[in-house]
Amino acid sequence: MTMTTFENTLECAKQLDAKDPLKEFRNKFHLPTFTTNEVVYFTGNSLGLQPKSVEQYIKEELDAWARYGVEGHFLAEKPWFSYHEFLTEKAAKIVGALPEEVVVTHSLTTNLHLLMISFYQPKGKRTKIICEAKAFPSDQYALESQVKLHGLNIEDSLVEIAPREGENLIREEDILSKIAELGDELAMVMIGGVNYYTGQLFDMKTITEAGHAVGAKVGFDLAHAAGNINLKLHDWGVDFAAWCGYKYLNSSPGGVSGMYVHERHAYNPELPRLAGWWGYDKETRFEMKPGFNPMRGAEGWQLSNAPVIGMSVHLASLDIFEEAGMDRIGEKRDQITSFLEHVIEDVSKRVSDKCQLEIITPKDSKKRGAQLSIVAHGQGRSLFDALTELGVVADWREPNVIRIAPAPLYNSYEDCFRFGKYLEAAIQ
Ligand SMILES: *Cc1c(COP(=O)(O)O)cnc(C)c1O
Repeated sequence: MTMTTFENTLECAKQLDAKDPLKEFRNKFHLPTFTTNEVVYFTGNSLGLQPKSVEQYIKEELDAWARYGVEGHFLAEKPWFSYHEFLTEKAAKIVGALPEEVVVTHSLTTNLHLLMISFYQPKGKRTKIICEAKAFPSDQYALESQVKLHGLNIEDSLVEIAPREGENLIREEDILSKIAELGDELAMVMIGGVNYYTGQLFDMKTITEAGHAVGAKVGFDLAHAAGNINLKLHDWGVDFAAWCGYKYLNSSPGGVSGMYVHERHAYNPELPRLAGWWGYDKETRFEMKPGFNPMRGAEGWQLSNAPVIGMSVHLASLDIFEEAGMDRIGEKRDQITSFLEHVIEDVSKRVSDKCQLEIITPKDSKKRGAQLSIVAHGQGRSLFDALTELGVVADWREPNVIRIAPAPLYNSYEDCFRFGKYLEAAIQ
């Protein structure tokens, strides 16, 4: 069976599962048990599932804390003083960066602010920021407050790119032409690598090149891209990026975030930044001298010593990603998302007298990750409630959008088939 001969049948789903090179990984996760029917967990884009190994990783640090107290900073098997270093290379591999360009620290919105303090430097007429319309709310607030911090006006400074009238997706050509049009008025481009609402993946390389061509800095919020998309931040020349650890990266609610700064900036001590002691040169940190001497690379943006318990959860998950490899994850992502799309289209045909199911996510797998956003025309919240009742954990956005994401590490083709059954039953 190839990708083009999907059938919305249990046999087909089972055959695909049997051939899935990542099938064993499902067993490494706790699948929720609170539903009456067997769960279909399709919200790995919101909160990834708990790796079973997490308990052991946390226990190791609790034991070290009990045994060593403060001396755990140096005596623990993974010394807390440099605990973040255990995550750097693994996180760098996931986003396609050099280890020096990545650090795991803080939370996502915090990191976005810290990076924009450095990379949004309005000067003269170069004050504008290009962002996506209806960006994730936290990003909107972060962008607005950055503009205000510089005493600038939000309406003049924030340039939002929206889908054209009657369309759901943003046309990349509209982003590129706005970049060219603003030219030397453009200070920064900051958009989500994958749009959280539609699941649209942007061509980060082309956008970065276009921004650089007019002298702007380009950064991405990778909340919906990290652990989902095969990223090459370094090669694409992206200036900065941040992501959270708890969506596709399965690293616990509110878990730690990653940040990336391209090496061309990473060794520039002159960049303005908000500083804290953990970003200070490691060799002389405890001399506690006045004046800030940043560490080389992304580590120089750290403020605080690492929250080791939360970091240990992230390490557990990153070890699973390392074992699976982003290449295999990417292959399954495209295949399972296409299968799910096929199932939905098949259901859509059968319920067409009651409801039109429209997938607004791009059809081209190069333009999306693992998420499908479905508009259920003619249906309302009761459809979603019926789905939930049947055992589907998905995400609902008013007035009638259902967002689902088959996470390649733990979702199965059979999950997709069962989702189709539940969807059809919920619409009847
Ligand atoms: C999930 C998400 C966030 C959440 O930010 P936190 O600081 O982790 O609460 C921000 N931006 C985007 C685009 C997201 O998808």
